[in-house]
Amino acid sequence: MIITILPVQGLPLIHEGDNLPALIAERSELEDGDIVTIASSVYSKSKGYTRQLSDIIPSERAKRIAMMTHEDPRFLQSILDASKDVILEYPFILSEVDGGHIGVRAGVDQSNIEDGQVILLPPDPMKSADEVRNALKQITGKNVGVIITDTCGRAFRRGQTGNAIGWSGMKAIRDFRGDRDLFGHVLKITEEAVVDEIAGIANFVMGESNNGVPAVVVKGCGRWKGHDDLYFHPDEDFIRKALRQNVSAIP
Ligand code: GDP
Ligand code: MN
Ligand code: MN
Repeated sequence: MIITILPVQGLPLIHEGDNLPALIAERSELEDGDIVTIASSVYSKSKGYTRQLSDIIPSERAKRIAMMTHEDPRFLQSILDASKDVILEYPFILSEVDGGHIGVRAGVDQSNIEDGQVILLPPDPMKSADEVRNALKQITGKNVGVIITDTCGRAFRRGQTGNAIGWSGMKAIRDFRGDRDLFGHVLKITEEAVVDEIAGIANFVMGESNNGVPAVVVKGCGRWKGHDDLYFHPDEDFIRKALRQNVSAIP
């Protein structure tokens, strides 16, 4: 398997109303089967999923959290507004957003946008990925997959990696259950989160600060069988349950 990873070079600063699929298509040579990864931050900027902090009036809850975290209560309010279920308030807000993704500060970013503004995650990232995929098909005639990524922290390990927030044209998970290993044992557990692996390498090529590469084309991944049930259901998510049980013990 030979996988080629190509940054989309020369994209401008993105603002509300920009046609991101067209800008990407002009700067890449897409082929059937390619996977176009796009940073959620630029997708959101192109759609205006941003907020001006000066427009936000913080609630009592945001002010209370600000006493603990020393963050701007208006920033905290934008996070609370984006959250469907707050799992932790301290040492940072950890919450579930619409669509099932659980992220630190609900994925709300203060970087790569003008001062005084924040970037929200797209509210329906699966639909966004579909929409970009359809637009790329219209423009180029090519049948590509799309992954909307975000840089996320993770439990147990230091350092952030790219995660898939929305995807279209592929299954999130490659399911190995039922396959036999080299010794003939039937695999019972292994499901591989391929969309996150691709988001991870794309995120590495994007960089985090001023690289200016919010889209990366991944060629040669082929196809895999599996399913889209990437997020644990609340009843099987024992880490979330444990966090909830311990939350009252946190100062
Ligand atoms: P996130 O991972 O989705 O939160 O996005 P980041 O803020 O980490 O940005 C990912 C990449 O996109 C980095 O290389 C940024 O420099 C780049 N980037 C962010 N916004 C823009 C933009 O408006 N235009 C361009 N060309 N690059 C951007
Ligand atoms: Mn982000
Ligand atoms: Mn990033």
